[in-house]
Amino acid sequence: MTLIKSISGIRGTIGGAVGENLTPIDIVKFTIAYTRFIAGKNEAKRLRIVVGRDARISGEMVNDIIEGTLLGCGADVINVGLCTTPGTEMAVITHKADGGIIITASHNPKQWNALKLLNEKGEFLNDQEGKQVLALAEQEDFDFPNVDSIGKVILREDFNPTHIEQVLSLEMVDVEKVKSRHFKVVVDAVNSIGGVVIPALLRKLGCEVVELNCEPNGHFAHNPEPLPQNLTEISEVIVREGADLGVVVDPDVDRLALVNEDGTMFGEEYTLVAVADYILSRTKGNTCSNLSSSRALSDVTVARGGEYAASAVGEVNVVAKMKEIGAVIGGEGNGGVIYPELHYGRDALVGVALFLTYLAEQGCSMTELRKRYPAYYASKNKIELTPAIDVDKVLSTIKERYANERVNDIDGVKIDFAEHWVHLRKSNTEPIIRIYTEAKSQEFADEVAQQFIAEIKDICKL
Ligand code: MG
Repeated sequence: MTLIKSISGIRGTIGGAVGENLTPIDIVKFTIAYTRFIAGKNEAKRLRIVVGRDARISGEMVNDIIEGTLLGCGADVINVGLCTTPGTEMAVITHKADGGIIITASHNPKQWNALKLLNEKGEFLNDQEGKQVLALAEQEDFDFPNVDSIGKVILREDFNPTHIEQVLSLEMVDVEKVKSRHFKVVVDAVNSIGGVVIPALLRKLGCEVVELNCEPNGHFAHNPEPLPQNLTEISEVIVREGADLGVVVDPDVDRLALVNEDGTMFGEEYTLVAVADYILSRTKGNTCSNLSSSRALSDVTVARGGEYAASAVGEVNVVAKMKEIGAVIGGEGNGGVIYPELHYGRDALVGVALFLTYLAEQGCSMTELRKRYPAYYASKNKIELTPAIDVDKVLSTIKERYANERVNDIDGVKIDFAEHWVHLRKSNTEPIIRIYTEAKSQEFADEVAQQFIAEIKDICKL
């Protein structure tokens, strides 16, 4: 049973004791804090807040509490109902709302839910704003508006069709070209809202769709994180159906993983790489991803004459860096594509439409396209320490030892060697260090990880 309050929102398990789980009382308190934060930015203005949710079992319950609380706080509500994270973000922009709340625990299992908070641009609150909301959540001096000033639900409408049209209207999405290929696509949406939205988008692109786990009932058919070990079923169906590719999204549809026609993984890291390659083939420019993402994006960007920059982990950090360097495309290696021409948020619908345009244009198969990109292999590990160990000191010791290499310390310690890299990050909640490595073979990636684990153990005298 857990309740995690962080700058990106509040996340917890459903049921159990107040303050230790995401209970109705915690949801009310946090919604009030968010409303007060937004009200503080727009004094004397009547607020309009968008609320959307993924298909989690607890979604309706959480939605009703949030909606009622917003109304009680005097805010008007635009409720888009079952909606993706990128769709809710676009609804904030489209309706010119003052903010938005997305009810989703992303890739976490079904007992979890969370409130993700958006500003008036439909983007996640930054570190400083998130801290203000957390501080407000500690206060209990509530003073609510009277009966004449309570909010109204001013719109209760499905936004997904609008979002799909916005994606299809992008200049870089060539609907006719995709239609001409008559792609057969298997979709695994782990029984969340992607099961409605992704097939609808694909049909607009003239694809034949085979639906797998596309019933938005919140009963996740497998671990909802789109990692290879969770995606065995779709591989079999693609081969059996003779499909051209598979599309996998997480419950709130901001992560996109692709599967090849032979059932092998295109690789979640390579979603962004391929989409960026397409955009860069048309628009010269810079790219950005977080420090834990594949070096393949940097390789592709440099080959296309642009510059690559890395940000700290977290969508809000990627977006800030993208704006700073004027990136034409960016995102996160975990299948998160951010295309600023539509909005600054990870959007699997944008990813699908751009990727299929490129695949259609190239006239090749998934495996052929994948072979064009540098092959990197990742190893993701962690080392458990004791609470007495000063993790920051361990990281700074490593940093000093490798001072002659290319070291980036904006988020943990990332060391870029000529042919491989290692990224060490501490956790804010547990005494652990995460060790991510990438190299040109799986064996070497694993070996580098083991080498650093041994080195950390040595420093800690474990
Ligand atoms: Mg997600």
